[in-house]
Amino acid sequence: MPLYWFHCRACGGFDLAFSMADVPAAAPCPECGSSSKRQFGVAALIRPGSRAVRLIDATKRTASEPSVVAAPPPRRSVPISRNPLHRTLPRP
Ligand SMILES: [Zn+2]
Repeated sequence: MPLYWFHCRACGGFDLAFSMADVPAAAPCPECGSSSKRQFGVAALIRPGSRAVRLIDATKRTASEPSVVAAPPPRRSVPISRNPLHRTLPRP
């Protein structure tokens, strides 16, 4: 079931899960019980934990916590391609 965001004037925002057919325009606040209107926002089109989210998080993190590198990454012992035709390509 999708989560819908509601806003209580006294307590702030909270999420409740409803089926898409049964979502009300207002719901009682879980803390004070007052009627809280449903808020509309932007849909989350990015899946949490996806490659894009990890890249965005890593990019944001490097702005404040740059990673300290003491050594270059280890060399690969396994060749990238096992195709014998690729051996004739120029190497850097
Ligand atoms: Zn409240």
